Amino acid sequence: MPDSDKELESALSELSEIDTNECITCTKRSLCTRCKRPINVCWCSHLPVDKIKTSTTVLILQHPNEEKRNVRTAPMLESALENCHIIRGRHFSRHPLLRDTFSNPERSYVLYPASDAIDVEDLVAVGRDYSLIVIDGTWNQAKSLYFGNKELHSLKKVKINPTHPSYYVIRTQPHNECLSTVESVALALSKMERWPELNSLLVKPLVAMCAFQIEHGAEKHDSKEEQIISGTFKKKIPRKIENRIRQCKDFKHLLG
Ligand SMILES: [Zn+2]
Repeated sequence: MPDSDKELESALSELSEIDTNECITCTKRSLCTRCKRPINVCWCSHLPVDKIKTSTTVLILQHPNEEKRNVRTAPMLESALENCHIIRGRHFSRHPLLRDTFSNPERSYVLYPASDAIDVEDLVAVGRDYSLIVIDGTWNQAKSLYFGNKELHSLKKVKINPTHPSYYVIRTQPHNECLSTVESVALALSKMERWPELNSLLVKPLVAMCAFQIEHGAEKHDSKEEQIISGTFKKKIPRKIENRIRQCKDFKHLLG
């Protein structure tokens, strides 16, 4: 990857730390026992009737701060898939599920866009009983979990190539290619399982949730990249990030 691209990627990843989202109104409404969301915004009716069985086991490493967010998408995967586990923490080497995975590096992939990551499309038939490790959180949280768990480094990395912007339009994504956790896993898993329809099955609760919230007044959010390009990014961009973006030739003319 050219240096300018790396700089841009790094600068955009830091944008993910700037919270431009409105808080969802929190009142003492009754909660769904399954998705733990208020009944009127519960997405459970958009889950498959029976949990979907895949040959790949999905292990979602969740940064403790991600759990505190109002709207998370990893639980949609845990509710829809039989072989999916959310594991919360900062260090994972002692967790029984991960100990097994780390000791079987030939049967495991980490979904992480490292420079040596293989495009998930290019994987030859994956076969049965593989594990896909996914890191849930903002870009900076994901990086800190990746670099803080050296066992992940020796596993093979895979990356996805989204062909459309995120459906998660009520949360501002850092840039156009940035997908939510449920979308990233749905895309990767549909390729690994050679099952194209799996993608839309898994993102259904997200699409329904966003449609409902927009219908009830939530604003659609362009990605931060899109907002910077169109000049509508309302927050002050830290000078360090702005300077790095300015150094990238693709953005020079847009920032003036
Ligand atoms: Zn629910």
